[in-house]
Amino acid sequence: MNPPTNNLDNAATPWTERQIAGYHSHVYFNAGSLEQASQLCLAAAQRFDLKMGRIHEKPVGPHPDWSCQLAYRPSVFPHLLPWLAMNRNGLTIFTHPITGNDLIDHRDFAIWMGAVRPLDLSRLSGQERPVQYEF
Ligand code: ZN
Repeated sequence: MNPPTNNLDNAATPWTERQIAGYHSHVYFNAGSLEQASQLCLAAAQRFDLKMGRIHEKPVGPHPDWSCQLAYRPSVFPHLLPWLAMNRNGLTIFTHPITGNDLIDHRDFAIWMGAVRPLDLSRLSGQERPVQYEF
C-alpha cells in the first residue's frame, strides 16, 4: 500500500477508489445528553490521537442536532470506531470520510451509529477540491 500523500487529487477517481485523507465523527446530543456526550468526546480525545471540536449547543452546518466533532487520520479509524460503538451508550454518532467532496462524503459515504438523522445536504458543495490533513 502506498503511503498517503499530503495532497490527494480525487477529481477523476471513481468514488469507490477515492483516497481518504481523514475522518470526522460527529457525536449528536441534546440538552438531556449534553453531559454524556461531552464526557464521551473528552474521553476519546484523551485516549486517541484526534482533534476534538467545540461542543455546539445548536445545529451547525448540515447537522440537524447539537454536536461535537472528532477529527482524525485514517490510521485512528480502526481503533476509534469500535471504541465509540461500545461506549456511545445510546448516543447517535455520524462518521464520514474526507475525500474532497463534501456532498458525497456526507451523503454517500455516511457511517451511522444508533440512528440515521436527516442532514441538510443543501449546505454542502459537490465541488471537488484538494484535501489535506487538517489534524
Ligand atoms: Zn464532518
